[in-house]
Amino acid sequence: MTKKILLLPGDGIGVEIMAEARKVLELMNEKHSLDLELDEALVGGSAIDSAGKALPDITLEKCHAANAILLGAVGGPKWDNLPPADRPEKGGLLKIRKEMGLFGNLRPALLYKQLADASSLKPELVADLDILIVRELTGGIYFGEPRGIRVLENGERQGYNTYVYAESEIRRIGKVAFEMAQRRDKRLCSVDKANVLEATMLWREVMEGLAKDYPDVELSHMYVDNAAMQLIRAPKQFDVMVTGNMFGDILSDAAAMLTGSIGMLPSASMNEKGQGMYEPCHGSAPDIAGQGIANPLATILSVAMMMRYTLNMPEPALLIEEAVSTVLDQGLRTGDIYSEGCTKVSTSEMGAAVVAALSL
Ligand code: NAD
Repeated sequence: MTKKILLLPGDGIGVEIMAEARKVLELMNEKHSLDLELDEALVGGSAIDSAGKALPDITLEKCHAANAILLGAVGGPKWDNLPPADRPEKGGLLKIRKEMGLFGNLRPALLYKQLADASSLKPELVADLDILIVRELTGGIYFGEPRGIRVLENGERQGYNTYVYAESEIRRIGKVAFEMAQRRDKRLCSVDKANVLEATMLWREVMEGLAKDYPDVELSHMYVDNAAMQLIRAPKQFDVMVTGNMFGDILSDAAAMLTGSIGMLPSASMNEKGQGMYEPCHGSAPDIAGQGIANPLATILSVAMMMRYTLNMPEPALLIEEAVSTVLDQGLRTGDIYSEGCTKVSTSEMGAAVVAALSL
């Protein structure tokens, strides 16, 4: 059955990296008869400029109709002075996440051995690192009510937020995490602060309950402070980690940095209908936009994730990941991952090299 893929290049380097990801998608579609139907729409600053808002109705309609969305990046200084709700990030990207109920965020931290020197940790600690962090994205303390800043009786101001998770919210992110673990090394570490926070005591209890449905997955628990320490001390001990919105926000950025380059990191956000939005972890990089030097590999690896997780096409996903490894073996590097002795290439040269590796 035909699968609809919506491409949202967005702004800045989003446009440049999407052009390369499109070439990879088109090649795979043709060569492996994947029956993908590609469409494209505006989002972010480019949508504000041409359609008056960051998420035009037609784009949202196409998002709902798509099996999977591939997003470049949104934002840039040109739109920074708009009211926050109208800006490319909140009015475009966050709105898509909210409208589509994308509650499950998958952030792999995968370090190709060819780039082990780029990490701030010793190469032996991180070479071949392959962790997947599953973060709950639409609940927890970032959305909990009541919230605000109030004035106490003594006249002092007090800021307050609410860390809240319903069982159903924990269960649905837990299921995603267990299923991901089943596809990988079958080890899941649930991260909480169950020694202090009641909301995460419930989190732990629900995860324990779910484990009975996934007897092939080994579930462990870790307090978030220890998890932060272990990620830096011995990151390769982890396979899949699952955690709430705030802890996941922090841990996934820390894990990303273990790999040394933001230009290499894909991500995914899924909803209950099985739709997914795939995007590089980086932003629109206005400082290098238009120069043709951005690294397109995070977006190309996002295509691989899309094939594996939403389209259920593990073989083409693997071929793309192997092609990325091949171009790194060839010594090709964009500026962000360049080291002495390698060949510096442009965005389009890197894309062409991946396409060539896939065409063999
Ligand atoms: P950024 O990720 O765009 O850039 C941070 C640094 O990393 C910059 O020096 C940039 O040149 C470099 N970089 C990022 N991606 C790269 C790539 N593929 N190849 C080579 N170098 C790369 O973060 P920022 O500078 O904080 O934000 C810039 C704009 O992007 C802002 O408007 C921000 O709101 C937006 N943003 C969007 C998203 C998104 O669309 N998902 C995410 C983060 C930031």
